[in-house]
Formats: sequence, structure tokens, C-alpha cells
Amino acid sequence: MRTAVFGGSFDPPHNGHLALCLYARELAGVDRLIVSVSKNPFKAPTDASDDDRAAMARLLVAEINAAGKFAEMSDWELQQPGPSYTIDLLRHVAALHPGDDLVLLVGEDSYRQMPQWRESQAITKLCDIAVFGRSSGELATTSCGGTLPTAMLFDFDMPVSATEVRQLAAAGQPVSHLIPQSIAAYIESHGLYRA
Ligand code: ATP
Repeated sequence: MRTAVFGGSFDPPHNGHLALCLYARELAGVDRLIVSVSKNPFKAPTDASDDDRAAMARLLVAEINAAGKFAEMSDWELQQPGPSYTIDLLRHVAALHPGDDLVLLVGEDSYRQMPQWRESQAITKLCDIAVFGRSSGELATTSCGGTLPTAMLFDFDMPVSATEVRQLAAAGQPVSHLIPQSIAAYIESHGLYRA
């Protein structure tokens, strides 16, 4: 079984996350997807709480599974007492699913930071890495310092970020073109991201 791990703050989840997960199922041969909500130590007062991010990640998983169930949400990182690191999450998933091939899904911006991640060498031993482009044009494979690990590179172009969604929502602008309807409804009913 090929199990993918996709971590993020999901503050909020958006169409880029959704498309990336569906794309990974088809093109990276993923059988099972674990969507893991990470801690956000740099949380601004207007950012969503851990509970809200977990709830919205569950809604994202429901959207992913609408085309056939293969994703599950994990709040394991949120439950850890200290800071959460990708290597710890991968070891946790490897212990949960012994014998599975693991693949880590990351956007181009995260990939370029990987040399700075804790135990980045160990990460590459534990899993394959699938990188999804984040800017129009050529996939940037220059690191922010250090050597980038070998990875599968996917040409991908969904120019949306959670930052943009938060900013639009704070300005009272529509966001429904950038996020699934269920998540837009959650943001509206919980009054999230209002300045
Ligand atoms: P923020 O704008 O708050 O930094 P974000 O949009 O980058 O948030 P995260 O939850 O931090 O969203 O991202 C989780 C993972 O998804 C990261 O690996 C990130 O690179 C990737 N990702 C997010 N949006 C896109 C996108 N539009 N295209 C490709 N990868 C993406």
C-alpha cells in the first residue's frame, strides 16, 4: 500500500490543497492519504484556532473523499506536547502502517526549505517526496540553502494560498472561488478571519 502524508496549517484549507490531493492520487499512485494538521506556533490573533483548523481539515477530507474514499484527517501533531516535526509524523505513520511505502506531499515552497528541516536526511530515507509547483512557470528547484533531496516533481499550477483567503475574508471580500463551499460556510458561520 502506498500511503501519502500531507501536512499543513490548513488555515484554511483551500482549492490548491484539494486539487493537489486529487492530483497525487492519480499521478503519484497514492492508495491512502493522511492529511495532518500541524501546530502553528506563529499564530496571529486573527488566525483560526487548532480546533477550527482541525474541523476545516475534516471538511477538506470529506471533499477529497467525494470522488472515492482514500483520505483521513490526523490531529496527531496537534496532540503532541512539544513542537511538531515532519520526521516525527512520518515515524508515527510508519509505525501505524508497517510495510507501507510512504510518500510525503509538499508544495514547491516547502520543498525548497527542506534542507533546514529537522533530520531532513532521515526524512528522505523514510519516504519518497512528491513536489507540486506553486508558481506559474518552471518549478523552482533551488533551495533556500543546503542540498535539496531527490524528489518527484509535478508540474502543478493552482495560484491560491491560505494567506490570500485570510486577507480577502478579513477585507469582507468573497472567497468562494478559492475554497470548497463547505469550508466557506464554516468560515462564515464561525466568524473566522474577521479583522
Ligand atoms: P499560508 O498562505 O498560510 O502559508 P498555504 O496556502 O501555504 O498557507 P499550508 O497549509 O501552509 O497552506 O500548506 C500545506 C502544504 O500545501 C505545503 O506543503 C504547501 O507548500 C502546499 N500548498 C499549499 N497551497 C498550495 C498550492 N496552491 N499549490 C501547491 N502546493 C500548495
